Amino acid sequence: MRILVTGAAGFLGSHLSRYLLARNHAVVGIDNLITGSVDNIKDLLKDPGFEFTKYDVTNYLHVPGRLDAVLHFASPASPIDYLKFPIPTLKVGALGTHKALGLAKDKKAIFMIASTSEVYGDPLINPQHESYWGNVNPIGPRGVYDEAKRFAEAMTMAYHRYHKMQVRLLRIFNTYGPNMRLEDGRAVPNFMTQALKNKPITVYGDGSQTRSLCYVSDLIDGIYRLLKSGINEPVNIGNPQEITLLELARAIKMITGSRSKIVFRPLPEDDPKVRRPDITLAKSKLKWSPKVDLENGLKKTISYFRSKL
Ligand code: UDP
Repeated sequence: MRILVTGAAGFLGSHLSRYLLARNHAVVGIDNLITGSVDNIKDLLKDPGFEFTKYDVTNYLHVPGRLDAVLHFASPASPIDYLKFPIPTLKVGALGTHKALGLAKDKKAIFMIASTSEVYGDPLINPQHESYWGNVNPIGPRGVYDEAKRFAEAMTMAYHRYHKMQVRLLRIFNTYGPNMRLEDGRAVPNFMTQALKNKPITVYGDGSQTRSLCYVSDLIDGIYRLLKSGINEPVNIGNPQEITLLELARAIKMITGSRSKIVFRPLPEDDPKVRRPDITLAKSKLKWSPKVDLENGLKKTISYFRSKL
């Protein structure tokens, strides 16, 4: 296949592009580099199967030649990034999705939207099944991301129903691994950077809020299975192993052998209290389940952060 990946220089886009190239697909990568980095794809730039253009996908999108799939992964994805870039976040989810869908329609390509567990907001049920409609504050600081992704899903389903396009709606739960930016502000990079520098580890709130962390290679495997499936409806991809943020901070402190103290800071507005994917659908329809446990995933990620520091 010849596949367009938007956000190709980002955390997930770079892993996804590398995975597709390794399976002999040709990849056209686009990224406006506001949160992505060419460092993540330095090795891929030498691959004849990879073409990269710095471009903002919210503008008119033209890609010469055939395309078999359009994977729309461009978006700021960390809470501090979407606070810093609220309007680009809304635009890439709304206008960017529209442009990418239009291109996919023109090329008769499969379209995939990288959606998110944030469509469930601060969920009132745990775990979250795909049938749950969510609990999102549209006007809060996280609303720019949550509502952009919800709009992107609505737009994707409209193209599926009206234009009979093949679409994939991937709901990604918290994912971690190499190529996350050290300063991206999410819990895993913050805790690792702080622990490795023996600086205070900043737990927000009392640390009793939960997340379920998926190692990036598991996520990418799930994405590929979803792409090849015929499922035109949302599918959760994530690791259902749920832990509190305080437990995560302690685990990272222990694995790094850090002397850091754990300190408590105010909880950001609308921070979800729980989050855990129900992956029954992915297990039954994609024959997918995560393989890398938290300890191993954290160790691999810590090696990356250590090398970057
Ligand atoms: N968090 C934390 N300390 C940090 C960064 C994040 O305690 O230095 C918390 C944050 O408040 C949230 C959880 O970690 O409850 C996960 O946050 P992250 O930004 O990784 O992603 P989210 O799941 O909120 O999108």
